[in-house]
Amino acid sequence: MQSLMPIEYAAMKLCRFDDNRLGLVGEDGIRDVSAVLSRLPAVTYPFPRHDALVAHLAELRPQIEHAARGAKPLAAERVRLLSPLANPGKIIAAPVNYKKHLEEALADKGIHHGNLVQEIHKAGMFLKATSSLVGPGEGVKLVHSDRRNDHEVELAVVIGARARNVSAAEALGCVAGYCIGLDMTIRGPEERSLRKSPDSYTVLGPWLVTADEVPDPGNVALRITVNGATRQDAHTSDLILGVAQLIEWASAFYTLHPGDVILTGTPQGVGPVRPGDVMVATIERIGSMRVAVQ
Ligand code: MN
Repeated sequence: MQSLMPIEYAAMKLCRFDDNRLGLVGEDGIRDVSAVLSRLPAVTYPFPRHDALVAHLAELRPQIEHAARGAKPLAAERVRLLSPLANPGKIIAAPVNYKKHLEEALADKGIHHGNLVQEIHKAGMFLKATSSLVGPGEGVKLVHSDRRNDHEVELAVVIGARARNVSAAEALGCVAGYCIGLDMTIRGPEERSLRKSPDSYTVLGPWLVTADEVPDPGNVALRITVNGATRQDAHTSDLILGVAQLIEWASAFYTLHPGDVILTGTPQGVGPVRPGDVMVATIERIGSMRVAVQ
């Protein structure tokens, strides 16, 4: 008897590069699969609140694989990587979600600036402007460079399905995939939404890794170096609220749409960057991205 197993596609790494090309990332390079974008439904004003590619990713996966078969691999170093997400409806972020980062933030006036720093159960979450989003190839352009501007490396979760009041038990079923996130931050007294939302202060990359490639997002190492020196070197097993709990929490306040991003919080070791610095952020099972500071 023939079994009726669901069709399973191999895990994918998808990038956006150069002039808004869509790429499938493989061991030997990036294959241009932009032709599948013409399969996305035509939209008219008002535009949907979701990211169209993420919303239709499941049905496009076989077509992406098909398009990749005829494409020549491009060397990843030769392309300019953009944010893998073009149009996220919102970027949600967790403020203090690692215990050791809470301790360093409380101990360092250069981080807390007299602001009330509380752990996430009290502080909840906040939003970053979608206009702050760039990819690694675009770099971070500091504003107010007379003030302390810090790197914060974070596991970024990309929502794949419309979700509202999701329980933690079902939350991972709403995830399309993961990226490396940088939540760049000007330290100072103002609201987070102001200090963390200048243009280029949210970096996502180097690609979107589909959720099947990261079976347990609570079990990956993350790190960042600046000019080759390690600054943050931590593990998502130390998250206070894990990915499933963050989705539960966020979806109790907002409807989550495909393409919405949750930045899960940064571990200890945040520190300043200056123009000319080069950050390299790495997360296990996702990859590594190089981001220049201007
Ligand atoms: Mn952060």
